[in-house]
Amino acid sequence: MADMLEEHRMLRDVVAKFVDNELMPLEKNILAREIAGQKVSLTDAEEAPLLKKCKELGLWALDAPEEIGGANLPAVALMPINEELGRTCVPFTFPPDSPNLHMLMAVASPEQKIRYMNPYAAGEAHSAIAISEPGAGGDPAGMTTRATQEGDSWVINGRKIWISRVPYADFTIVMARTGTDGRHAGVTAFIVEKGTPGFIIAREIPMLAGQRTYEVVFENCRVPNEQVLGRVGQGFAPMQLRLTIRRLQMGAWCIGMARRALEMMCGHAKQRVTFGQKLADRQAIQWWIAEAATKIHACRLMVMDAAEKLDDRRDVRTEASMIKVFATEMATEVIDHAMQTFGAMGVTKELPLQLMMQKVRTMRVYEGPSEVHRMVIARRTLEAVK
Ligand SMILES: Cc1cc2nc3c(=O)[nH]c(=O)nc-3n(C[C@H](O)[C@H](O)[C@H](O)COP(=O)(O)OP(=O)(O)OC[C@H]3O[C@@H](n4cnc5c(N)ncnc54)[C@H](O)[C@@H]3O)c2cc1C
Repeated sequence: MADMLEEHRMLRDVVAKFVDNELMPLEKNILAREIAGQKVSLTDAEEAPLLKKCKELGLWALDAPEEIGGANLPAVALMPINEELGRTCVPFTFPPDSPNLHMLMAVASPEQKIRYMNPYAAGEAHSAIAISEPGAGGDPAGMTTRATQEGDSWVINGRKIWISRVPYADFTIVMARTGTDGRHAGVTAFIVEKGTPGFIIAREIPMLAGQRTYEVVFENCRVPNEQVLGRVGQGFAPMQLRLTIRRLQMGAWCIGMARRALEMMCGHAKQRVTFGQKLADRQAIQWWIAEAATKIHACRLMVMDAAEKLDDRRDVRTEASMIKVFATEMATEVIDHAMQTFGAMGVTKELPLQLMMQKVRTMRVYEGPSEVHRMVIARRTLEAVK
């Protein structure tokens, strides 16, 4: 694996400082909101100065193309940035949240790029993606939401669930069945603008870690032909590209979370004395520390290897599945051991550990449950062995 470029290292250090100086001080507000049962997110008043600072520091549109003002950074530069962001339980991403951007970059028409991608890349528009349904989540090819062409428009009918960010999204990428052929074939992506008649947010669903998802109903939701994103019946592949990018990013977040938990575990173990000895001198704790340091290192190598291959335009779907499973389970274990090292303090709502634990728990489900990824890894491994 190639060494990190100096410019990428410098950028990572800028982000590390941003996390320490700007985000960490907001953790107490975030924890207070979680204790109060509120949505765990930044207020507009908290977010506005952060966004201003990001603009000043050039932490904006990092993976957007240069022609629309982006920095066009490769995945090998973006992963260490995501690792740094993972160290805090304050939910914040540098605009725009990139996976949908990659789907738009891959298949949007020139008109769609101007109308949707450019404002999105500039951080002026927000987006969501609606894939999961009550009867089809881990197996999205079983979706039944249907779009039917009527003259110069498509009419969408069906129901989506567990959709993040919908109320704030200026547009939602909606996956719907348009053909009768096969499971993956015949699925088309549509761009549905906020406020389109028949696009109904049915309910808000509180999730762990103070997150919120939404159930969305499509009742004769009519969109013009120009809202088809990519080619009719071929929405699955660009959707997979988007999921792959998110899975690598999740791996990097998990490394950041585990690093924070390990630092906290070490700090506490070095000063807490029980039965006349420091916890740091106990083999039980040392093994947790050794395991954590080893697995964090292994996970970073996995993420950077996949990032390098992705930048070389190689297919990293299997690597992404491996990372999704390994990283989320690694972070679960490290955070759990850190909580145990802190004793009662570890299970209070005052430390960020419990919020990180809740967060990583949801990560073992979204973007595909661990069991489905294991099935995919095993299937591809079996196929590869002649
Ligand atoms: C916080 C959060 C945010 C989300 N945001 C979005 C979003 O923005 N857009 C969107 O479209 N979706 C979103 N989702 C939905 C998410 O992608 C699905 O929940 C996920 O894919 C699992 O689908 P399911 O809930 O229907 O579980 P199911 O598919 O019913 O699976 C349930 C369980 O069965 C087991 N299982 C399933 N298949 C297999 C198998 N083949 N082998 C062994 N075991 C298996 C697994 O343990 C799995 O956890 C979000 C979910 C969460 C939790």
